[in-house]
Amino acid sequence: MTSSFSSLLLAEPLARAVAEMGYESMTPIQAQAIPVVLTGKDVMGAAQTGTGKTAAFSLPLLQRLMRHENSSASPARHPVRALVLLPTRELADQVAQQIALYAKHTKLRSTVVFGGMDMKPQTLELKKGVEVLVATPGRLLDHIEAKNVVLNQVEYVVLDEADRMLDIGFLPDLQRILSHLPKARTTLLFSATFSPEIKRLAGSYLQDPVTIEVARPNETASTVEQRFYSANDDDKRRAICTVLKDRGIRQAFIFSNSKLGCARLTRALERDGYRAAALHGDKSQDERLKALEAFKQGEVDLLVCTDVAARGLDIKDVPAVFNYDVPFNAEDYVHRIGRTGRAGASGLAVTMVSSSDTRLVADIEKLIKKKINVEAIELPDARRYRERDPRRDVAGREEVQRSASMPSTRPMRGARPVRSAPADPFFDKPYEASDAHTPSWDAAGSTGPKAVTPGLKTKRKVAALFKPAGSY
Ligand code: AMP
Repeated sequence: MTSSFSSLLLAEPLARAVAEMGYESMTPIQAQAIPVVLTGKDVMGAAQTGTGKTAAFSLPLLQRLMRHENSSASPARHPVRALVLLPTRELADQVAQQIALYAKHTKLRSTVVFGGMDMKPQTLELKKGVEVLVATPGRLLDHIEAKNVVLNQVEYVVLDEADRMLDIGFLPDLQRILSHLPKARTTLLFSATFSPEIKRLAGSYLQDPVTIEVARPNETASTVEQRFYSANDDDKRRAICTVLKDRGIRQAFIFSNSKLGCARLTRALERDGYRAAALHGDKSQDERLKALEAFKQGEVDLLVCTDVAARGLDIKDVPAVFNYDVPFNAEDYVHRIGRTGRAGASGLAVTMVSSSDTRLVADIEKLIKKKINVEAIELPDARRYRERDPRRDVAGREEVQRSASMPSTRPMRGARPVRSAPADPFFDKPYEASDAHTPSWDAAGSTGPKAVTPGLKTKRKVAALFKPAGSY
């Protein structure tokens, strides 16, 4: 099978858009899925994010819809013909942006609706008429109930990141939405894994689907260097900062298992002098989109996320991913580190492992079928760290002081300023403005931080902590 887009005989407006995107050849999921979707068959695709699956379903879908292209302004002439459902607002926004780019030389209209934003502008867009509607399930139901949208002419429905939609508990919403759609339609389901629940969903809503699997779902990219460091909770942040500095990493994703942990870690990293932003479900939609944009523009160094908020985000060239917490589900480990080492670029994935994480690490080991060695990491003492850290120079200190006295000048426009002095587990005392110019481990006082086991001056493997895969 040739992997050139020209072999597809895409309509000129689509071929032009693809050329403008700079795509030279098809990715494996595209090479396999596009010809099948063009035939109108149902597809069940296992593809991780970053594989090019958005184009894999959008291009053939747009090609098929082009027969309805209509230059009339009448909304009635632009009914929804394709519905793309995604679990999170960011993903919906991202996919909608890609579809708009692929469709830009056609007369097809597209829009996106998701929660957390005012319904009115979305309603206006819907009432104008769109052929392609990208949506999160909850908000789509709101619009269906408000009779802002009619779905009786839908020909294509895409359930993207279907496993995550089920994890979030969207099954009842999906069932209700699907009940509004014509029976004669093409259904495309994409999921990172084919769990029994996904197979059941496919069994209920797909007809004789073609299964496409491009990479083993639990595979981690060989271009990602995976490191596991032993660190207790008090040392994790310092360990991350040490790796960032030692490796000269400018931007990274840091994953936390909880929204609260995410918010606290972001604040602590800001106090350390980093430009950090949080991405989790309690942030307003506006804040989340701004955080993403600021990261993409290089205005934010560290994006601290929860799994749900970060799933599938297409941010190119993230040099490193840190797991502040070992994820509860081994699959999430694969998703998390899939943010780095994309498209053949090299990446680094660092996981902080505390003594209570043994079981979770063993689960990851089993899933990725690679032996995990948990190493010790040498943490410099506070003074040495301060001397060696370029962020602690005069300019860096001024920047941190400024942001302490004027919370609204924090790098994240729209980020909630710290109004009070919350007790913070990363500090031995509650955060006060006067701490802001001081590295947090200095704030612990003259006793300094509780560093990793004394005597561990050089990195050494402590693999013995963990039994080999299969022994559990
Ligand atoms: P996705 O997996 O759909 O989120 O796509 C990941 C990224 O790959 C997006 O930024 C796409 O623009 C990009 N992409 C998709 N298809 C190709 C291609 N054939 N060649 C190069 N980049 C692509």
